[in-house]
Amino acid sequence: MTPSPRTDITTLYIAPVRTMDPDRPRAEAFAVRAGTIVAVGGIDEVRAVLPADHAVEELDGVVLPGLIDAHLHMQRGGLKASEHVAADVDVDGFIDAMARTFDDEDWTGDAPPTLDQRVAALDLVQPLFHALGFTGVVDPAVTIDEMRGYQEAHRRGRLTMRTVAMPYLEIGSPDTPDVDAVIAHLAGTGVSTGFGDDVLRLGPIKVYADGEALKGQALLDEPWDASGYRGEQRIPDADYARLVAFCAANGWGVGTHAVGGAAIALVAREYARAGAAVGENRYQVIHGYLEPSSETMRLAGSVGTVASLQPSIIWHNGVGLREKLGERAERANPMRSWIDAGAVLALGSDGPYFAFDPRHLMWQAVTRFVANSPDPLDPSEAITLDEALAGYTTGAAYASLAEHDRGMIRPGLLADWALWSADPVDAGVEALRGLRVRRTVVGGRTVYGSAGA
Ligand SMILES: [Zn+2]
Repeated sequence: MTPSPRTDITTLYIAPVRTMDPDRPRAEAFAVRAGTIVAVGGIDEVRAVLPADHAVEELDGVVLPGLIDAHLHMQRGGLKASEHVAADVDVDGFIDAMARTFDDEDWTGDAPPTLDQRVAALDLVQPLFHALGFTGVVDPAVTIDEMRGYQEAHRRGRLTMRTVAMPYLEIGSPDTPDVDAVIAHLAGTGVSTGFGDDVLRLGPIKVYADGEALKGQALLDEPWDASGYRGEQRIPDADYARLVAFCAANGWGVGTHAVGGAAIALVAREYARAGAAVGENRYQVIHGYLEPSSETMRLAGSVGTVASLQPSIIWHNGVGLREKLGERAERANPMRSWIDAGAVLALGSDGPYFAFDPRHLMWQAVTRFVANSPDPLDPSEAITLDEALAGYTTGAAYASLAEHDRGMIRPGLLADWALWSADPVDAGVEALRGLRVRRTVVGGRTVYGSAGA
């Protein structure tokens, strides 16, 4: 890792930039001082506002804002990686090893991982995510032990992925046997969603409305089959309503795992009741991919819900869902409809349990191909490459409560960027999967690749 640069020097970076800033989508240069972007624009335009003693770096490639995976179990991924890959693994080896072990346990040690092991796991895995252009993550289900792991990594200055941690208090566990116990825990310390800093911040809480689709647990409006079975509801309506109402009144966001249309409808109803809190604390529908009705999506979109969707899940589950549901599977993961309904799309992976390479996932979102099939799902639910990139930058930054700090190359925002071998949108969807990230920078500090790249 490169030592932190002198913070009193302004650096001018010269390279084509895809800013993701709607006010200025493209630029030729940008300048950074003390970890913050201070100017963006044409080369002469940027140079004109810099002090005379600035440094200059010409970059070979195209600069994009650092990507944010809006749904990645990073610490569990690190623990899992520490069992399956060597310390010097490269990103391709890492992707392969995780793909071979999607269904394996995170951790097979006799005792739970120690704090040191958790920090070491993060040390191992963060550079691998940086090598994919990531500078941030929303970890969507952080247990108390994982929260301690993140806090300790941050305390030691080792958290290089900006992390939004979504507390997960499992209803029915010994510590939180019911919803009232969850509410008591949340009320217990006075902090709530948004607490933290640019490196580690509390996100919305995580709660489950239903189960997993391939296990037939997604709660649907229309039965799964002739038996009339509609899926599994994980929390009664009244408990869920009480939890959301508590969160809305007490500064907590809510991220709800809701796969099937009936579960998503429950979530949309309660979020609509929560009103302004949904936007303030970035309430999420998580997964949201099996038969949400258009009314449900409109209702959720009308209050500014984040649709936290994962192209990876449908990539892996597409063929299995066709076997279970036939034609009904074709519209699965309706990203187009979610965007058109007004939801904020935040893209993620659900790694390490599903594929997490953003080049592959953006390609899936655009093409709708699924694993082990020559036939894509219904292309009417495809999104554009621009929209996919926005899902990983501006959309995921919004889900991270950080749209004023991250997700764009714009003056005043944090200097989180990655140097790609080519512009993903210009390269086109077929070339996308072959692009490489050459360098990744978080807060002005190079965390992957070399400063000369
Ligand atoms: Zn997950």
